Amino acid sequence: MANFYTDSPELKHYLSHPLMKRIVELRERDFEEKDQYAYAPQDLEDAMDNYDKVLEIIGEICGDIIAPNAEGVDHEGPTCADGHAYYASGTEQNLDALRKAGLMGMSMPRRFGGLNFPSVTFMIAADMVSRADAGFENLWALQDCAETIYEFGSEEQKQHYISRVCNGETMSMDLTEPDAGSDLQSAQLKATYSEADGCWYLNGVKRFITNGDSDIHLVLARSEEGTKDGRGLSMFIYDKRSGGVTVRRIEGKMGIKGSPTCELVYNNAKAELCGERRLGLIKYVMALMNGARLGIAAQAVGISQAAYEEALAYARSRRQFGKPIIEMAPVAEMVVNIKAKLDAVRAILYQTSRYVDIYKALEDISKERKLTLEERKEQKYYAKLADSFTPLSKGLGSELCNQNVYDCVQVHGGSGYMKDYACERLYRDARVTSIYEGTTQMQVVAAIRYATSGFYASVMREFAEWKVLPELVTLKERLGAMIARYEEVVNVVVEQKDQEFTDLMARRLVEMAGYIIMGYLLLQDATSSPELFTSSAHVFIHWVEAEVDKHTGYIGRIRPDVMNYYRKA
Ligand SMILES: Cc1cc2nc3c(=O)[nH]c(=O)nc-3n(C[C@H](O)[C@H](O)[C@H](O)COP(=O)(O)OP(=O)(O)OC[C@H]3O[C@@H](n4cnc5c(N)ncnc54)[C@H](O)[C@@H]3O)c2cc1C
Repeated sequence: MANFYTDSPELKHYLSHPLMKRIVELRERDFEEKDQYAYAPQDLEDAMDNYDKVLEIIGEICGDIIAPNAEGVDHEGPTCADGHAYYASGTEQNLDALRKAGLMGMSMPRRFGGLNFPSVTFMIAADMVSRADAGFENLWALQDCAETIYEFGSEEQKQHYISRVCNGETMSMDLTEPDAGSDLQSAQLKATYSEADGCWYLNGVKRFITNGDSDIHLVLARSEEGTKDGRGLSMFIYDKRSGGVTVRRIEGKMGIKGSPTCELVYNNAKAELCGERRLGLIKYVMALMNGARLGIAAQAVGISQAAYEEALAYARSRRQFGKPIIEMAPVAEMVVNIKAKLDAVRAILYQTSRYVDIYKALEDISKERKLTLEERKEQKYYAKLADSFTPLSKGLGSELCNQNVYDCVQVHGGSGYMKDYACERLYRDARVTSIYEGTTQMQVVAAIRYATSGFYASVMREFAEWKVLPELVTLKERLGAMIARYEEVVNVVVEQKDQEFTDLMARRLVEMAGYIIMGYLLLQDATSSPELFTSSAHVFIHWVEAEVDKHTGYIGRIRPDVMNYYRKA
């Protein structure tokens, strides 16, 4: 009987963060639903207790059902027949278990049948589900698309669709097309309004759509004839019950085999406009993708946790040269590094989730009443932090996850290359985390302005004011010295006033910023739970120092002649 919540005390730690009080207060509107719903919390303590209990149930489902099914699902995979996608049998069982436990639409308001859980708790759940089976997390976490309908849909759409999601129907987000991947403003799927029928029809092709045969689709389509850019795109809701979309094929993928990735053909598919015309990409997809990017950060963390468990167990049991390989320093280093990078990414994932929770709750409240000046300031402050931290969580989290699964396979030696061990699947599953929901390069594009504008440096300086345990002060001082070196190279890049040079150096600047920030967050975690995080704080900050040396050295020594080779490639 495994429980992925109770066996990882790190997860519970994130529920104890001081900002949780504000998050619950805002989310529960001072507990106004306490007499309306039997399961609505009475107070802060009751809310926290409720989160804890529900996460324990999810932990049990992950340990007892989803994880044991993962290997079978990886072998069986989904199938395509008669224009539809069919899940592997293990995937059906997983979905059934979560539906029966009422764990669909977790973050939706109670009036639609949801649990009204904040992002922090939803991400803890996604973290555990990903550890159990990363491919399955894709299907289950797509319930988050309901958030877009909640934010931008009409009241009628909310009542109709969100309730269905809370009852267990699944969703997909249909954005990518053969010629529109990173560059979504090139999307061509055509939306035509029929005056006679009083509705929209969609025609065209979408590809690489996760869970493409879902019940409810959010679709990005070109509603404004003659336009070529993002301003001609709108967001639509397609209901599978209406018909008109067929699954042409399911992609044969390297990993995450449990989730069907579909090519879809829209043939006069009836659809409803969601929100206003022309805001599909500019506003709604951006909001949708920010939420989904955090979900991928959680996926990366969950895979890293699984990699850590596998590496540690193998290194303890495998003997060479007369002793367990964990007793050999180079092997121990790999295992310890996996844990440190895992804890660092978790720290930024949950910090970002807290920011998202506060700014979104205030945004929601602003639809009910005018925010006070203080609240408006608070909303703006956290919205900017959420926006600047999301690409760091997703971009760096997925890259570190890939480093972790690489090391996990290495710890296993030749066995790691064989299908007999879970690490082989983790290695394949991890690869896509740095590709979908915007590649790492696109996360860097989203993050770089916060580096060059000095925003990340100002956040670091704010974090540097945090009090830490006396035994962590030296680590904090080392991080302080890194801020100065980071700012120096940011200036070197900015002073060039050369966009191409900035583009070339951007990844290094963003990595440094993200790692230093994660270092501070780990110190904060190690201060409140030293037994859980002190080791990771030491190991990670030492590693960050070496990364800062590498990147500052690279940027400081780059010469125009080398630059020219990159420019000519
Ligand atoms: C398994 C899987 C599931 C997916 N699920 C979904 C889904 O559910 N819904 C959906 O809509 N899409 C989905 N996608 C699509 C995914 O989001 C895209 O594959 C991804 O955004 C990249 O687009 P692309 O594949 O066209 O690559 P391209 O955009 O062609 O990129 C190729 C390379 O160029 C780089 N590049 C492109 N533009 C820039 C730039 N401006 N600056 C720097 N580098 C750049 C990229 O980083 C990449 O290295 C899925 C993809 C996969 C693999």
